[in-house]
Amino acid sequence: MTTLQRVEKFLEKIKKEDKEINAFLQIRDEKELIEGARAIDAKIGEGKAGKLAGKVIAVKANINVHGMNASCASKVLENYTAPYDAAVVSKIKEEDGLIIGITNMDEFACGFSGETSAFGPTKNPLNKKLITGGSSSGSAAAVAAGFCDMALGSDTGGSIRNPASICGVVGLKPSYGSVSRYGLIDLSMSLDQIGPIAGNVEDAALLLDVIRGRDTRDSISIDSEKLNLKKIKEKPKGIRIGVLNLDGLNVDENVKNLINERVNEISKKNGWDVKNVQIKNLDLAVETYYPLVYVEFFSGTRRFDGRRYGKKIEDFAGPEVLRRILGGSEITKAEHKGRYYDSALKVKNFFAEEFKKIFKEVDCVVCPTLPRLPWKIGEKISVEDGYAMDVLTIPPNLAGNCAVSVPAGAISLDALPSAHPPAQKDNGVPVGLQIICDKFQEEKLLRIAKGFE
Ligand code: GLN
Repeated sequence: MTTLQRVEKFLEKIKKEDKEINAFLQIRDEKELIEGARAIDAKIGEGKAGKLAGKVIAVKANINVHGMNASCASKVLENYTAPYDAAVVSKIKEEDGLIIGITNMDEFACGFSGETSAFGPTKNPLNKKLITGGSSSGSAAAVAAGFCDMALGSDTGGSIRNPASICGVVGLKPSYGSVSRYGLIDLSMSLDQIGPIAGNVEDAALLLDVIRGRDTRDSISIDSEKLNLKKIKEKPKGIRIGVLNLDGLNVDENVKNLINERVNEISKKNGWDVKNVQIKNLDLAVETYYPLVYVEFFSGTRRFDGRRYGKKIEDFAGPEVLRRILGGSEITKAEHKGRYYDSALKVKNFFAEEFKKIFKEVDCVVCPTLPRLPWKIGEKISVEDGYAMDVLTIPPNLAGNCAVSVPAGAISLDALPSAHPPAQKDNGVPVGLQIICDKFQEEKLLRIAKGFE
């Protein structure tokens, strides 16, 4: 199929199905898309096309795409049109990827279910009663629904891996510093990374390969090793898998069993070694993460004051965003003398050290991506239970490691809490397996992920 035919197919599907799913906040002008697709097809014909030629890509609404609305799914930035391309977007365009539209998300990336968007929740394409997970809800849903080939998400504490897990797709958070954050509207600048969401490991690798690398406009970005995309297709030998000890954490038994079965099955098949590993004080991950996020988010949002950018955030944001602004302003008060933030930084370093020790013994750490099954859209979830959703995805952000969620199977919907039986009983709920590797070991991570796929 030509790029043009593929775009037309995607557009038709979006028009038919996205009114209900709500994965996209904005679709690119159709004429522009068709012209873009034609130009790429011409380049392919001449043998001059880039690495992403033919791929149709969606972008999360907190990443600047020139001329498109970077609203962060908030009323605050509802009318904000991006005046430039984020570094990742320029790279995609240079390699002839075609950007089809801007995806829905939790407001300002504050969330875990896709329900805090000011423009309505995204519905899970696999079961429309269920949440998609978040905050990159629209990006994961767009890939799962077949609205595009791949998408960009952002991940501060799990926002790529969480919805990838619930929507049954692949989502990768790069090591902190692998990908430029220039043009990302940040949630928490010391944790955020942009990364790929795709239908399979090879597509995720391809997109990561294009967006990674040093960018002078993001001082923490580095030129890590290039990915060898051919090598990713080969099954890696002699891998030492570390199965994370989940004692003391509230993890659903069905999820735990499915992941254990899968790890044993795949390791046996590939001849990999399996041992148990432990990260001390894992239960502190969520408590460590939130003070950091509250403070950094609060400070980052001071520019949304109704004069410089958008509308005044205090007047237009939803409850989860306001909670964080309020929390952040309290924690930063002089009388606390940086107590909470400083302690959180210490524990953050502690987690980095813990992982460093573990990676001397094993090549990767595996665990469920999420501790529990998704809930029904609109179901009342306490703040604590919602925050706990990311207990297993947060640690790699704190340590700066790379991590990916790959589909590991599905659990029958009968296992969901019976008080809220979803109406659509079809293929069950997907469960993601999380693989974590040391900093800048994306190639190894992807090869192991490919082994699990
Ligand atoms: N759920 C986490 C939060 O609400 C993670 C968000 C993210 O990764 N952007 O902060």
